[in-house]
Amino acid sequence: MPMLPNYRRCLCCRKVDHKSAFWRVVRVFPSQQVQLDQGMGRSVYLCPNENCLQLAQKKDRIGRSLKTAVPAEIYQTLGQRLVANSTMVHHTDSDNAAQKTAFDAAGG
Ligand SMILES: [Zn+2]
Repeated sequence: MPMLPNYRRCLCCRKVDHKSAFWRVVRVFPSQQVQLDQGMGRSVYLCPNENCLQLAQKKDRIGRSLKTAVPAEIYQTLGQRLVANSTMVHHTDSDNAAQKTAFDAAGG
């Protein structure tokens, strides 16, 4: 099945989405250093959610796919991003409907 341009698959849950919707982990060429977001090399994509992050870490999905060790700080950084995101989600979830309407009207 051909995949649309710029669409990628999560290496944990196999969900397909635009690459901008995923975290990208790159094994940079030629240094083999593993880093996030930027760089040329072999890359994998991961949903920005707790399930996929935990699965990736527990099963070493990223390391297996990239065939290299993934530094703990990669998971730490992604975990911190997750906390930042979920804080925002919880905030809007706990708002009442009127505030949500105002939020939507403001273009958020
Ligand atoms: Zn996923």
